Amino acid sequence: MNADHRIATRLVQAGLQRTPFGETSEALFLTSGFTYSSAEEAEAAFDGTKPHYQYSRFGNPTVTMLEDRLAAVERAEACRVTATGMAAIHAAMLSHLKTGDRVVASRALFGSCHWIVSTLLPRYGIETEFVDGHDLGQWRAAFERPATMVLVESPSNPMLDVIDLRAVCAMAHAAGALVVVDNVFATPLLQQPLTLGADIVVYSCTKHIDGQGRALGGAVLGNKEWIEGTLQPFIRNTGPSLSPFNAWLLLKGLETLALRVEAGCQRAAIVAEFLSQQSQIGRVLYPTRKDHPQHELAMSQMSDGGTLVTFELKGGKAAAFEFMNAFRLIAISNNLGDSKSLATHPATTTHMRIGAEERARLGITDGVIRLSVGLEDSADICEDLARGIAAIGSSAPRRQAAE
Ligand SMILES: *Cc1c(COP(=O)(O)O)cnc(C)c1O
Repeated sequence: MNADHRIATRLVQAGLQRTPFGETSEALFLTSGFTYSSAEEAEAAFDGTKPHYQYSRFGNPTVTMLEDRLAAVERAEACRVTATGMAAIHAAMLSHLKTGDRVVASRALFGSCHWIVSTLLPRYGIETEFVDGHDLGQWRAAFERPATMVLVESPSNPMLDVIDLRAVCAMAHAAGALVVVDNVFATPLLQQPLTLGADIVVYSCTKHIDGQGRALGGAVLGNKEWIEGTLQPFIRNTGPSLSPFNAWLLLKGLETLALRVEAGCQRAAIVAEFLSQQSQIGRVLYPTRKDHPQHELAMSQMSDGGTLVTFELKGGKAAAFEFMNAFRLIAISNNLGDSKSLATHPATTTHMRIGAEERARLGITDGVIRLSVGLEDSADICEDLARGIAAIGSSAPRRQAAE
């Protein structure tokens, strides 16, 4: 395995370090601490003259394998993983920011990211400003004053808004800001923000990287100097560390990521086409479709559309609930990026707390459904969606889970 290998190979092999037993699969080091052969060796480990694991809050061999694999996949100089995606975003921001700094973010962010920017950072005297991510004029106006950090998500949750990452990164850099991209919806396979000018990429590994609904995890990727000098001391001392067991699950998840994302994209495109033909459905948003408002931009920075399809039922909340309650295959869940198809009604769940006004601004109406397309046969997924559509107007109660 070397750095020239293609991404599918790096996903399977990068970072693997075999023990003297020669195991095929990555070893799981379920240990909190490490021992030293002498007091001198302990001293050398702590003064940095001898590389030696010290404590799993700082580092663990299974966790290192995951970090090295993710760095190789993203072609980033370095990576640190965390217990959740939110821990990754929080650490990336708080390790870098201080009182008096200024953050500019796109408005269409994952709910907890929105909370960090709107509520948490101002408590520490950090000025924050939201812009409509697709409006370059708003970014330009925001960068008339210096900024410290930019946080963007593209495509965004749940409306699949696409942000011109090349243009925003160039403007942000001119204003002195470091650009953090939350790349969860695109995955490392469909979009590589570092090649578009971003400085830092963050993931919730809970989503496609695990991809099988088993474990939480997060990752931060960037250059070695920032990861080791800025992020690592913050993680080491504040402790959002990933469990070695979850690191091991995520290593196994990465091995099938390319297959799952490719299969998910194929199914999502079929599902989007099916939905677009239904008279009860207004808009269908999917980046590879020509009717996506930023289709050309999306295709200039993404290699496929992803596994999420967002659409709007004409009948509002009542129709959305009747539609979802009729499913026998698709589960109602606020999670995404799973091998099982999951449907969310953002207005009453994931985006309930941001309030009606902010939802209206983001286009999250009461008829919007976000569908995370899983790995089931697309014909079965479409049949279940058809069952949902047929139930609109019926006032039928929720069916029990599939018999
Ligand atoms: C899920 C998600 C997060 C948060 O990740 P957790 O692992 O749930 O903490 C952040 N950003 C996006 C876009 C997500 O989908």
